[in-house]
Amino acid sequence: TRQWRLASRPVGEPTHDDFELVTVDRPAPGDGEVLVKTLYQSVDPYMRGRMRDAESYADPWEVGEPMRAGVIGEVLESEADALEPGDVVTGELLWAEHAVADADDLRRVDPDLGPVSTALGVLGMPGVTAYWGLLDVGEPTPGDTVVVSAAAGAVGSVVGQLAQLAGARVVGTAGSDEKVAWLTDELGFDAAINYKETDDLAGAVAETCPDGVDVYFDNVGGPITDAVWPQLNVRSRVVVCGQIALYNATEVPTGPRKLTKLIETRATVEGVLVSDYEDRWGEALRRLSRFIREGDLHYRENVVDGFENAPDAFLGLFEGENVGKQLVKVADR
Ligand code: NDP
Repeated sequence: TRQWRLASRPVGEPTHDDFELVTVDRPAPGDGEVLVKTLYQSVDPYMRGRMRDAESYADPWEVGEPMRAGVIGEVLESEADALEPGDVVTGELLWAEHAVADADDLRRVDPDLGPVSTALGVLGMPGVTAYWGLLDVGEPTPGDTVVVSAAAGAVGSVVGQLAQLAGARVVGTAGSDEKVAWLTDELGFDAAINYKETDDLAGAVAETCPDGVDVYFDNVGGPITDAVWPQLNVRSRVVVCGQIALYNATEVPTGPRKLTKLIETRATVEGVLVSDYEDRWGEALRRLSRFIREGDLHYRENVVDGFENAPDAFLGLFEGENVGKQLVKVADR
């Protein structure tokens, strides 16, 4: 069976040379463990942080060791009472075609709820991040203007739709005309800005948010945040979810300096971390799956086929190749 290992720690943009594909013996489960065949593997922006040798909310990966990822898999062998062969499970496993895991670290996926791949996207970590990040931290109210960056991504696309359901006016930023069209024509965003084709970003935000910004859900940071900042309203909320524009930076550029804006507006800037919501995970998933069933929440998945292409899928996140959740399809059930 094959695994992807971290070959070296990237400086700046990661490249293919930072990954190494190795073939190893298929592991056997010990007591309380199961052998899982990977069906889908997730690639996520936060993994860039794990390639770095620095303490953060997710431990750094070791050079020469297999990397870890959210996985949907099928149990092939079980030495645990709770799971049996054929069960579909999700958890943090290895970037691997097969892996052994403690049954206690896995969650069963109900294939009747929808395509199992959604357990890595809209009905998984990104969906829960969007749900609690927006509702618990952003707290949109009817009539608010909500701006979301990386709006056509896994988290952002859910944030924008939940904001609409909360009665807000929604504006997104994204990196292509195709994404802008998806947001405005299919998801019903009030406006969307292709930041790659816009010279005057601050002007575009001002134009699309004539009543200012009440909630800014930030997945990106950098120049997009600089452009939203001047439009913040009194008592607005900035939800700092991600800063992907900075993840490959070797030197962090100066951020918003105009903190007098916070005095003028009494705005709050608050970070969100999905792992804080472990106890409220199920509640978010139940609501999100109901919105999907009722036709109020749409999602897309960008599925890269083949385990050998996992690094491409990961690198593609930084090029904006994905519309919706970026996944690697590794095997059929
Ligand atoms: P996405 O599906 O949104 O994929 C990443 C997207 O980021 C790309 O598609 C690209 O879209 C955009 N992007 C990449 N580079 C840049 C750049 N330099 N400037 C602007 N946009 C860029 O990923 P996720 O939905 O999984 O994650 C979105 C954000 O949320 C990430 O920052 C991630 O780290 C964060 N996150 C945080 C969590 C938490 O608990 N705090 C949990 C989960 C995610 P485009 O074409 O628009 O450029």
